[in-house]
Amino acid sequence: MQSLDHNIRFFNTLTRKKEKFIPIEQGKVKMYTCGLTVWDYGHIGNFRTFMFEDLLRRWLEFRGFEVTQIMNITDVDDRTVAASRKTGILLKDCTKPYIDAFFEDLVTLNIEKAEHYPRATAHVPEMVALIEKLMQKGYAYVSEDKSIYYDISKFTDYGKLSKFKIEDLQAGARVKVDDYEKAEARDFALWKAWAPEDGDVYWETPIGKGRPGWHIECSAMSIKYLGETFDIHTGGVDNMFPHHENEIAQSEAATGKKFVNYWLHSEHLLVEGKRMGKRFGNYYTVRDLTKLGHAPEAIRYLLLSTHYRQQFNFTFDGLQAAKNAIERLRNFAYRLKDANSAGNSPELKALMDRVKKEFGDAMDDDLNINAALAWLFEFVREANNLLDANKVSKAAAEELYSLMMKFDKLLGVIGEVGEEQKLPKEAEELIRKREEARKAKNWKAADEIRQQLRAMGIIIEDTPQGLKWRSEKN
Ligand code: AMP
Ligand code: ZN
Repeated sequence: MQSLDHNIRFFNTLTRKKEKFIPIEQGKVKMYTCGLTVWDYGHIGNFRTFMFEDLLRRWLEFRGFEVTQIMNITDVDDRTVAASRKTGILLKDCTKPYIDAFFEDLVTLNIEKAEHYPRATAHVPEMVALIEKLMQKGYAYVSEDKSIYYDISKFTDYGKLSKFKIEDLQAGARVKVDDYEKAEARDFALWKAWAPEDGDVYWETPIGKGRPGWHIECSAMSIKYLGETFDIHTGGVDNMFPHHENEIAQSEAATGKKFVNYWLHSEHLLVEGKRMGKRFGNYYTVRDLTKLGHAPEAIRYLLLSTHYRQQFNFTFDGLQAAKNAIERLRNFAYRLKDANSAGNSPELKALMDRVKKEFGDAMDDDLNINAALAWLFEFVREANNLLDANKVSKAAAEELYSLMMKFDKLLGVIGEVGEEQKLPKEAEELIRKREEARKAKNWKAADEIRQQLRAMGIIIEDTPQGLKWRSEKN
């Protein structure tokens, strides 16, 4: 149960303001996140958005909320149909490897599981029912080619999310493709009547032979799993228009109710200042990076450690910095396992209280992870100083350790740090040689041995209590 006086505030794209988060049902959160379009592997730009959604979910849980998250899989839209036609592989066979890879990548990046992952192709009857409702209510019409369009002039709130005035739009003009620019805002396709380029991708339904438009998919699936009004809807900024604008128009016209209370959008991951995307050819997949030997935790940390409303550039230096940051956190956790001083510092309690408060305040403030991490590293630095000065008892170290594990429930990068391990024989020998080199002040040789150990996956650290080591995996 969350404390009733929580102070979580989110920047709501709908109002362009930070607002206190008040869920519809006390203690519960219903959120919908637009998932991957499975015409290809997801790239780490996509995963930046999924990571933000993971952080959001984990923070709400941290504060005691029970979260129901729905993440759809877009397995029929213009891009998936084009991929299927190009390869000559049936749509469901064409998307399957990417769906499988997506779930594998979610596990690799330690992203918490959503409650449901509905697939668009499994919800066509719900989409048809919603379109029929829009037709009955006069919001939709059939065009000459038997496609069905949404009449944006009928929905006076059209443009309220992406902020433009309906009077500026071209009345009666239409757009059939799923994705288009704001300047081309016009009546959009709810249902696309079969055309030869769709090949074998079609459904025979009461509204004709064809396939759904991309936007109606998310309206139908979110309403089915979360109800007509729910708390949070997320996605990357590119989803704001037309996708989310159209979801609002469809859902609110059909139900007569407010669709979503809080809209949260994450900014893009860039490469040399340009949005990472398949169409720009400037992307890496999760598997590209792990194949190059980069640890999944480092990718995870990199993607989550910049505030979600800030753009940032992907670089390999950034990935290395993420790795170093995790190493600092793990080293600290390791040291806590060993701490056993007789005395205890009176400063410890204040230090812990401060980090709990500051970290929490930062995260409550629209998930300000940059500030939260700065507080965490300051805490680690000061606690390390107390460890250096032999001022941390075993009991206090255990408390510090469980606090670190609590923070890691959010970050998901440290993991439980193992108990004493046995050092392989060759490593023992190398460490002995390194000690000799250090005694002889041969720093170069000592450093080379450190690198050799590192290549074996063993990390060593010189502390005031002597040399400490651990295996990289733990
Ligand atoms: P898509 O597979 O295109 O439907 O995208 C899946 C999610 O990734 C959506 O929420 C997009 O907004 C998001 N996305 C796409 N490109 C990027 C990027 N470069 N940075 C962050 N999020 C992105
Ligand atoms: Zn969607």
